[in-house]
Amino acid sequence: MDDCIFCKIAAGTIGTLAYEDDEVAAFDDLNPQAPVHVLIVPKKHITRISDVTDGPDACLMGKILVVANRIAAERGISADGYRIVINCNEGAGQSVWHVHFHLLGGRQMGWPPG
Ligand code: AMP
Repeated sequence: MDDCIFCKIAAGTIGTLAYEDDEVAAFDDLNPQAPVHVLIVPKKHITRISDVTDGPDACLMGKILVVANRIAAERGISADGYRIVINCNEGAGQSVWHVHFHLLGGRQMGWPPG
């Protein structure tokens, strides 16, 4: 999608990617909320997680989780623990309209989240 910042980052047009394959891209969050804060996105534009239904997009979301696990291991946060967050719509705090998984770690996490 032409005016989507995460489409541009995922395509390599702007910014620096931490991970890339044919379907998925990952990059460090601009405003990190933890020592490790990576965003993992599908290269395909999907606006929000609630738009995902059964089928290829569901498999793609599963693939993103596997990529998150891989990045967590690479960043050394697997043993201590990490959090994967998806905000869906304004009420949950979604501010960028291209589905993204937050991978957070490197500090103790609180619960419940804010
Ligand atoms: P959310 O509020 O769940 O939609 O998360 C959006 C996230 O994208 C926030 O954590 C922002 O800091 C992050 N963000 C926004 N623009 C950029 C960008 N150009 N590069 C990296 N991260 C970004």
